[in-house]
This record gives sequence, C-alpha cells and structure tokens, in this order.
Amino acid sequence: MGVKKKIYFFSEQKTDGSKSMSDVLGGKGANIAEMCRLGVPVPPGFTISTEECQSFLKKQDLGSNLKRDIKKNIGVLETLTKKSFGGNNPLLLSVRSGAKASMPGMMETVLNVGLTSKTTKDLIKISKNDRFVYDSYRRLIMMYADVVMEKGLGLGEGVGIREKMEFLLQKTKERKNYSSDSDVSAEDWKALIKKYLALVEKSFGVPFPDDHNEQLRGAIEAVFLSWNGKRAKEYRSFEKISDNVGTAVNVQSMVFGNLGKGCGTGVAFTRNPSSGENILFGEWLPNAQGEDVVAGTRTPQKVSGREKNSLEKEMPKAYKALEKTRKKLETHFKDMQDIEFTVENGKLWLLQTRTGKRSGAAAIKIATDMVSERLIKKDEALRRIKPEQVYESILKNIQEKELDGAVLLGKGLPAGPGAAVGQVVFTAEKAEALGKKGRDVVLVRRETSPEDIHGMRYASGILTERGGLTSHAALVARGWGKSCVVGFYGLKIAENNRSALFGKKKIKEGDWITLNGSDGSVFEKKLELFQQPIKDFEPLDLLLSWADRYRKLEVRTNADTPEDCVKALQFGAQGVGLCRTEHMFFNEKRILQFRKMILAGKRGDRLKHLDGLLPYQRKDFYKILKTMDGVPVTVRLLDPPFHEFLDIGEKEVGALAKSLKESKKELLRRVEQLQEINPMLGRRGCRLGISYPEITEMQAEAILGAALQLKKEKKKPRVEIMVPLVGSIEEFLNQKKIIVSVYERLSKKHKQKLVYKVGTMIEVPKACFSAKTIAKHADFFSFGTNDLTQTTFGFSRDDVGSFFPGYFEKEILSFDPFESIDKKSVGALMETAVKKGKAGNPVLSLGVCGEHGGDPKSITFCNKIGLHYVSCSPFRVPVARLAAAQAVL
Ligand code: PEP
Ligand code: MG
Repeated sequence: MGVKKKIYFFSEQKTDGSKSMSDVLGGKGANIAEMCRLGVPVPPGFTISTEECQSFLKKQDLGSNLKRDIKKNIGVLETLTKKSFGGNNPLLLSVRSGAKASMPGMMETVLNVGLTSKTTKDLIKISKNDRFVYDSYRRLIMMYADVVMEKGLGLGEGVGIREKMEFLLQKTKERKNYSSDSDVSAEDWKALIKKYLALVEKSFGVPFPDDHNEQLRGAIEAVFLSWNGKRAKEYRSFEKISDNVGTAVNVQSMVFGNLGKGCGTGVAFTRNPSSGENILFGEWLPNAQGEDVVAGTRTPQKVSGREKNSLEKEMPKAYKALEKTRKKLETHFKDMQDIEFTVENGKLWLLQTRTGKRSGAAAIKIATDMVSERLIKKDEALRRIKPEQVYESILKNIQEKELDGAVLLGKGLPAGPGAAVGQVVFTAEKAEALGKKGRDVVLVRRETSPEDIHGMRYASGILTERGGLTSHAALVARGWGKSCVVGFYGLKIAENNRSALFGKKKIKEGDWITLNGSDGSVFEKKLELFQQPIKDFEPLDLLLSWADRYRKLEVRTNADTPEDCVKALQFGAQGVGLCRTEHMFFNEKRILQFRKMILAGKRGDRLKHLDGLLPYQRKDFYKILKTMDGVPVTVRLLDPPFHEFLDIGEKEVGALAKSLKESKKELLRRVEQLQEINPMLGRRGCRLGISYPEITEMQAEAILGAALQLKKEKKKPRVEIMVPLVGSIEEFLNQKKIIVSVYERLSKKHKQKLVYKVGTMIEVPKACFSAKTIAKHADFFSFGTNDLTQTTFGFSRDDVGSFFPGYFEKEILSFDPFESIDKKSVGALMETAVKKGKAGNPVLSLGVCGEHGGDPKSITFCNKIGLHYVSCSPFRVPVARLAAAQAVL
C-alpha cells in the first residue's frame, strides 16, 4: 500500500488535484486545482487534505511528516514565485478552510501570513508602498489574533479582540473624519498596529508571533480547529453534514487588491442568482482585500454596468478578462459559478470558484437556459432543480391592492425573493423560540452572522441594516428560499433589542411588518400576500413540460372550491384527488343549517335540514365538476366528528334552540351528548354515514345529481365517490349500497346513465389488512396518510406539537412522519395494501391524498410501490410534477 499523499500542489504549471477530488481536497481545493488545469489565472499554492484535519483533531498536533511536507511545498512555491517565505522578497500566504460540502462563512481564514517586523520593512522597500504594507499587516494582526489566538488557541476566551480592534479603528476614523477604511493613511495604520500589538500582549499574555513559520503553523491549526467551531457544528447539524469529514486547508500565495490604484477585489456570480439572467453579477471594492466585500464594512460597487464605479467602467481590461473567465468556467463546470477574484495592478486572479447558490426562480431559468445553450441535457436540468426550488419560484408576493395606502418603511437590497409577513424580533433566539411555535416572525438584525443561523432558519423573513447581495444573510436566505432584504440603511436597533427606528418610525418587538424580498421594500403592518400563476413564468412551464414526459405518477390536487380547482389546473393538476366536503359547510348560512341537522332530535327533522343543505351541495359539486370537466374528481363523504361543528357559545345555542323550537336545556344536553372523549378515534369517517345514512344519501344525491345534470349539458363529469376511514368490508359495503341505490333512483329520474366510481380511503391499519376483500368491491384506494400515520404511530396528529420537539432533540425521531412517509411502518402498510388490493382487483386505481402527496421523498416512495397518482394542495402540484419525474430519473 502506497503512502497517502498529504498535500496537493496547484499552479498553472503543476497541479496534483482535480475537481473530482473534493473528498480529499474539499470543494474549494478541488475547484482551485481544476481552474489551474483549465488555465484560469490562480495564485499558486497547495491544499492540505481533509484526512490531515481528522488526524490533527485526534492528536492535536500536525505531526512531523506533515510539517516536513509543508516545508517542501513552501520551497516549490518560493521557486515558482521567485519570492521567499520570511525572506527579503517576502512571500505572503493566505490560509483558508474548505470542506467537501459548502459551508459559507462557517470556518476560518487568515490572510497575509508571513508579515513580521522584519518582512514589513522588506516589503516596504520592494513595493514602495508603506500604506499597503501597514494595511496588510494590521489585517493579519486582526485576523490572527481573533482566529488563531482567541478562538483557535483559546488564549483569552470572550476577550472579543476583533471588536476591540475595530473599535480603535473606528475611533481613529472618527477623529480624522475618514469615511472608509481606504482613507486611513500609512501613519494611522502604523500607529494602530502599535496599539494592536500591545493589546494582543495585554489580552493574551503572550506577544503576537513575529516568526513567519510560527504564524503559518498557527493559522493551519486554527483552520483545522474551526471545523469544530460552534457555528460550523450548528450549520452541519441543520444541513445534515457529517461531523467526521473535516476541512482541507488551502495555503496560497497572496495577491493584493489593496495595492492602490488598479487594484481591487470582488465576488461575483456567473449569472444573476436572484433572477437567473445570463449576465456577470457581482460586487467589488477598489483598493481592498477579500474580506472587505462580504464583511459589509464598506458598501460594495457593482461589477457589471455602465455606471460610474462599476468594475466594467473603472477597469475595463480586468472586466473583459473576468467575462472571458466566466464563459470558460461555465463551459467547463456546466453550472452557474460563484467566484472570488482579485485584481492586482490590472491583472485578474481567481481565488475561488464554486457552484453558486441561487433562488428557486434563478435555478429554473439557469437550468432551462443551459439546455438551450446546449451546456446540459433536459434530464440533467430536471435532476438539478430541487423540488422545493419550484415551490420557492411560485412564492408569495404582496397583493397589488394592498400596496394602495400601505406605509413604506424604506427600501433595501432585494436579497431573497418572495414576500414575507411576520412579527418583528431582534434576536435569533427570539426568532427560533417563536418560529418553533409556528408563529410568523421577521428577524431584524444590524447584520447577520453565521451565529444567527438557528434563528434565520425559523424566520419567515430576514431584514438587515448592513450588507450587500453577497452578504451572509443574503447567501443563507437564498439558499433556504427565504424572503430577505439587506442593506436597509435607515434602520437603528435599540440597545435592548426590543425596538428599532425604521427611519423615523418606531417599530416594537411583536409589531407586524411585510418584506418584499424581490424588490427590497419593507412595509409597516401585515399585508395580504398572493402567489404567482405558473403560466407567467415560462422557464418553469418549460421545465415542468419536460417533467411530464418522464413521470409515471399522475398529479391531482386536494381542492374543495372551484377557485382552488382553477388554480390547481393552472399548476397542471390532472384531477381532484380529494374534495373534503365538510369544508363546504363552514360558511355562515350553511353552518347554521348544518348544526340544526346535527342537533335535530328526530330523523324526520334531520331529513328536513338535509333537504335544506342539498341544493347548496349540488351547486358546489356542479361548479367543481364543471371546472374539472373531463378529469377525475374524487369527492369524499363527510369525515370529521360532529363536535367540530359545535364549537359554539351559549348565545348561539339559545338562537338554535329558538329556531328548532326546543328548550335551551335540551339542546345543551344534546351538544353535551355529542362530545367525545377521543374524537379522532370516535364517530367520524364512515361511522357517521353508518349512524346517519341520510347524510350519505344527501351527499350522494348532491354529487350524482350534479354529474347527471352536467351529462345532460353534454359535459364529461368523472365522479369518484370516496368513503372515509373504512376498516372493514362491511363498513364499505354499507355505504356503497346507499350510494348505488341513490344512483339508481336518480338515473331513472333523469333518464340518464353515468359511469362513476366508488372507492375508499385507506387510513387505518385494519383497512390495509382487509385490502383484498375491500378491493373486490372498490374501484379505487386513496391512502389517507395523515390518518394512517396517526393510527399507525398512535400519535394524535393535532397534539404532536407538544412532544415532537423533545423527540427530535433526543433523536427518538429523525424526521416528522407527518411530513414524509415513514417507510418502515406506514410505508410497509401501504405496500401490503397495494399488494392485497391488486390481488383483489387487478384494475384497482391507487393514489395518495394525505399531505405526503406533496412531499418529494414520499412521492419517490409512492412511485416505487406502484401508485397511480398523488394528490396535494394546488401550490404543491408543480413540486409534485417535478418530484414525480425525478422519481423516475
Ligand atoms: C388523511 O387522513 O390523510 C386525509 C387525507 O384525510 P384528512 O386529512 O381530511 O383526515
Ligand atoms: Mg383522514
């Protein structure tokens, strides 16, 4: 067995690694190597492998072999750059982290390693630019003291050395009236450096290392240690990245964007990450070093565009080179890239490239554009889009009418598209606490840092005072599809984090605001939101038309109103998989009639009230069936327990008693009688129709009557009547008999025949075991996975909120089974039901209509076990169309 390589060198002349080696080199290292292979200008350097990180974290020592190899590689670097590390023509190094999975901003970086009291003098001689050298040296001190001494070596926990240094800098700037770091003179930097060095010694009890080798070792170790930093760990746990992988370290010769005129640094995307537009999109700062752009300490300028300050205008040659590199990278990586670059005396250098994070809409536009540019094939485009990105692309917007009279609090930069409403909170902790309770919150911060991610996760929207489109808040928000506005400069948050001034307006914690992350505006109060019809977004339409060609599963919708049906059709639904009829009773006029029916003492009275409800129901079904002409509509008979309709006060009981000509006391007795101890397992589903056959009769008459009427009008209604919560064949046959007899009566009356189906929901385990017998008499099964999960786990679906958080924390559950089908239990029952059902009826139609019908993972499972369709809420239909195609791909 050969000895494993510890270090991989990269330069335009000699490169050991490649893009496929991200396991060993981390994402950054692998892509740097690949850029070198492509002939993209990259400052030379070497990558220390991720395996070395694992070994260092175990032994807390770099080991003599690795130290020897580092020295050897520095030697190669010195020959190549004609500089020497610690020598008279000093080579300076950057030391950066880079794990296999992208963890933006979660780990550490140290720049300008190698500057000491000796080499600063040498570099001043060579560069003839003392301001640049002092600026670089103070950056090294700031970063090293923070990353290596305070955090890495833990020399002074909680010292906050970086903040203290920033404070000193701020004081100098105020005293001298400087508006930006780039105004600070060489003399000022020199004076600050003196203060910084003293501060380091005072804070940590040891001097700042004045030896280049010691600096390099410290920086490498600190980067390794940052793998186990608090925020990195937190990020990994959210993103489900394994803790065992480790980070690589990239040691690279420095190029300088802070050498004065003709220099600068920036970050850019090879396409617009919000809209997907095919243009170079980014921000840069003249006379600056890498961190300045993302740190938000100076307001960055645009890369593209003809306006003053853009890179295109100020450094046209470098811009042209960047454009050329953009094309080269995209042609090679076949995806949108997120790059970091530096221009040193007019020459462009690429420091990093990685697949760029993007909004859902951008992901779809980029993938479909890349198909037409022949960069990728259609199946690759389909694979590339996460189903949730489709959802995000049809995200909420503010209702146009709401903008009339809305109070605009101000405008920032549109960093994460879509609108969000929520109650304002000013700390990540508050956001998490309230978000976990299902409350809508907008997290408002001066700027977000990776420490805030736990709160950002739970916020509906994020608003920050500082930062640009590539700031931490923006990157994270886009990655998670959250509405986000950054660079909202009118904002002043109170010290106690309880209120803030939005310009002149005071907003307190708990006040509602509305964000529009698509244009950066922020409004007072809660505005009504809506979602964009899919037809208006051509790339999505195109992508889903490709998905439709691949997928085997049909996608239906859960809809109870004609309006929902229209929406679902626009989204591409192929029918209604679940129409919950009880929702039709919840309007003011009908609910009264319905309550009278429930509370009627005698069957005769009940029939009278049902007669009153019949025309409403028939009209509802008529409209829905007409809207969904020619495609199947599955209507479910009444399902919820009666008490759900009886959440009424004394006053209403009095009014009901009066109109029913009963005593209030008697009525209260009956309300009492209808209460159940365990209603979810009580008289609901088909048990209602069995107790009160007249309800099933009325509903069957309304459904079939509407269909027969449409048939007369030469329409093509395709009715499927579904019996809920069936466990045994006897229950099913009881209800089916009623439906069939209603049909026969109506058919005779209308002198019209109709093809219709009668089937059942499968939502209790017993039904899965009785599936063969039931299927002999049923035309279809539709899995009600909400109840099937409830009855399989014995978890009350309405009460899991009280104990699920603890279950996740203690790792008793690794995912929410109400969100994704638990394959081992609920899934196994489904498989049983499918097998038995098909044995009983080979032409049995099979679908799912629980919430899982819109969940990509569950859709993959449904495809695997041979269901024919999934049914989900209208807005999940596009998601399901893509997920169903991916299940096949
Ligand atoms: C189900 O149980 O999965 C279902 C679709 O019915 P409901 O959610 O209405 O109980
Ligand atoms: Mg159910």
